Amino acid sequence: MANPVLPSSGALSPLGLDAVRLAPGFWGDRVALNREVTIAHAHEWMEREGWIGNFRGELPRRGREFSDSEIYKLLEAMAWADHPDFAELALTVVKAQEGDGYLNTRWSGSRYTDFEWGHELYCYGHLIQAGVARLRTHGQDAFTEAVRKAADHVCRRFMDGTETCGHPELEMAMVELYRATGVERYLELARRLLERRGLPALGPIHLGAAYFQDDLPVRQATTLRGHAVRALYLACGAVDVAVETGDDQLLEAVRSQWERAVARRTHLTGGMGSRHADEGFGEDFELPPDRAYAETCAGIASIMLSHRLLLATGEVAYADLAERTLFNVLATGVALDGRSFFYSNPLQVRVPAEPSDGINLGHSGGLRSPWFAVSCCPSNIARTFASLGSYLAAADPSGLRIHHHTPAVIEGAGLRVAVETGYPWSGGVAVRMLADGRGRLSLRVPAWAEGATVGYGPAQAGDLARREAPFPAGARDEAAARTRIVRDATPGYAVVEGEWRAGDVVTLDLPMAPRWTFPDRRVDALRGTAAVERGPLVYCAESVADEPPLADLSARLAPPVEHAGPSGVVELEVEAVLGERVSAGWPYSSRPAQPATTGTSLRLVPYHRWGNAGPATMRVWLPTAG
Ligand SMILES: [Zn+2]
Repeated sequence: MANPVLPSSGALSPLGLDAVRLAPGFWGDRVALNREVTIAHAHEWMEREGWIGNFRGELPRRGREFSDSEIYKLLEAMAWADHPDFAELALTVVKAQEGDGYLNTRWSGSRYTDFEWGHELYCYGHLIQAGVARLRTHGQDAFTEAVRKAADHVCRRFMDGTETCGHPELEMAMVELYRATGVERYLELARRLLERRGLPALGPIHLGAAYFQDDLPVRQATTLRGHAVRALYLACGAVDVAVETGDDQLLEAVRSQWERAVARRTHLTGGMGSRHADEGFGEDFELPPDRAYAETCAGIASIMLSHRLLLATGEVAYADLAERTLFNVLATGVALDGRSFFYSNPLQVRVPAEPSDGINLGHSGGLRSPWFAVSCCPSNIARTFASLGSYLAAADPSGLRIHHHTPAVIEGAGLRVAVETGYPWSGGVAVRMLADGRGRLSLRVPAWAEGATVGYGPAQAGDLARREAPFPAGARDEAAARTRIVRDATPGYAVVEGEWRAGDVVTLDLPMAPRWTFPDRRVDALRGTAAVERGPLVYCAESVADEPPLADLSARLAPPVEHAGPSGVVELEVEAVLGERVSAGWPYSSRPAQPATTGTSLRLVPYHRWGNAGPATMRVWLPTAG
């Protein structure tokens, strides 16, 4: 089955990519853009920067020590997307492999001499994930043979001993290769790498052992810590090992780490990471909006972890966090034209960034860049969109569960359905049976969707199928009126069970009124502020060109007003007041600032769309007036 994560057991069973066919809509459009634009864009830049030339032996070698991994992530994206450029690029990689299976363009000749920073095993991890993608979409070929040869080399070299890699990644890749091939040594190596870490297994570095999660054995840790992407990839590998070996204690350890990190170390957007110096989680409640790091890769890794925990447990909270992160980190990470990317995703930008068409040496997050010196995020975005269908729905023992509502045709658990919706702009979701069938249909009702309703029963022909998203006003009511039953649906799953006839429609109505959201007082950087959310989307104020600066504004907590923006987008407007400045010379005073009185209004756009109209200032958390 074509899917990046196929556990042999768990509460839910994934569906193959061919069983979830995305139609035009929020995610379908982005998946198509990824296939048509972003993959080729990344391919061009990797060629231009010489990272592909490294595999041809071109000298001098170019790029960072981990640049091979970008080619592998691109190959993974191409494999999932059935992209025509896969074969040639894969052949370039295969030709660089050494006789014993070793494959790395940076460390050939000085193998395994820098476990802390060398990223050699990390690169194998991405190579193996690309190989699994090819195996599951195409079957064996020269590339998958090379991947097996590399994996066998790694097993021979690292099965015994105490070494591991400074960057986790190989663990989950080896488990997946085991799942794809049935060869148990791959699982065993993953298990050993995991158990070795934290004993410790790596040498001292200036950022400290927690940076690469070598301060504690993974099952003793109580939260996610250190470098966010490393921490989340390690946790993914731990879930995979736990599921395949029946290690409930290990699974519980990761679940409690997830829970604590979500409760104390996660931005409103789902972004993770507060510190720029080590790209790391900070302390609990250290979540400053302007210094948020929230690397796009960390968001993707969080989606990967939540997905694994969802499959293992069936608990809906994991899908809720995945949705928040999909809409507010993954969708933010790439521009609307598919050709530029955010590396970090702060929740406030004070100064408009300088536009540039060239490579970005930093990760500031002020403006999307076409490429980076460290370009982990674009290739990660490409492979995630290319396999996005695998995250949307799953089967449980009695039926089909739809976790993410977007236009698609989904086949699984004996049901074949078409999902029609304008979500996230409208809250109406219609799931139409395309064939007679029997079974349970479970539709996720997000945690914010208090007051949702579900309706089900026969629908007349001429129906919802041909309507374009978003749902025209009234169509939903009309559909609801024809159904036999409408009832409340509480957050969790709306479950409808029965015998289905082709044409039957289940409707889910999610309340989409914009809402104010307030931070826990312990997030001291956010005291006295509030943010606006609508459905799964976080909104932000964006100030482009000659619009007034955002620093002086305070928002009134009146209900935000909706406006129709471009291409069906819902924009919002909130009442605001302009603040008083204390003084020009010294920004502190012996008296508190007087309440502001000059009224104005503030336009809010979905956070994932900010920065598409050129350099801008931006803020998600708005100081509140009064
Ligand atoms: Zn990245």
